[in-house]
Amino acid sequence: MSKKKKPAAKKKNGVRREKLARRGLMFVLSSPSGAGKTTLTRLLVQKEENIELSISVTTRPRRPSEVEGVHYHFKSREEFERMRDQGELLEWAEVHGNYYGTPAKPVEKAIAKGKDILFDIDYQGTRQLYKKASSDVVSIFILPPSIAEMKKRIRRRAAEDEMTIKKRLETAKHELKRWGEYDYVVINDDLDAAFADIHSILQAERMKRVRRTGVEAFAKKLQAKL
Ligand code: 5GP
Repeated sequence: MSKKKKPAAKKKNGVRREKLARRGLMFVLSSPSGAGKTTLTRLLVQKEENIELSISVTTRPRRPSEVEGVHYHFKSREEFERMRDQGELLEWAEVHGNYYGTPAKPVEKAIAKGKDILFDIDYQGTRQLYKKASSDVVSIFILPPSIAEMKKRIRRRAAEDEMTIKKRLETAKHELKRWGEYDYVVINDDLDAAFADIHSILQAERMKRVRRTGVEAFAKKLQAKL
């Protein structure tokens, strides 16, 4: 049987790109409701291969457009409390009167595979991640371009009644103040531009020496040959 030839190393501009081992990072996007964070999150997962979205558990009722296991794992309060009390959650918080939390297992699995994880969580959860794994966390706070635009986006979510909308606006007021706790702030005045900003941050953070665990062996190999 003929042995398959190994594909030639990819060359760009005549330079072979070395694929070095690296440590996965925890990429956090937070914002007040109505800043367009969910759209940006979905775009990133669609366009980037090596990043996985962390699917949270929540006690919030499912919106008609949402799918169990895709947008959230929808749970009763009892089930959520059981998961929280048995240490199954990496972080959790109460937002708009509902519980939200990140199941720990999928995150651990993805990180072990060298994948990055994307978190769409609030500032309370972000603080907990920093406490647990600060050097692995990169956080971005997304701001809406104006309050008028933010209100418009909140109201556009037709599934929600006036009471819920009011509650969300009230929470947004407090959440807006948290921008100073984040590594980066992106203003979502234009979806493509905001996405490009977020993508650049991800690429640069991936290139950090401390995350490129394969650099040491590579550099030492070069040094040994000199
Ligand atoms: P929504 O109900 O609009 O889907 O989410 C409400 C808020 O809860 C958003 O700010 C979202 O980022 C946050 N959130 C969603 N999942 C989690 C989670 O697992 N943990 C924390 N701390 N916040 C979350």
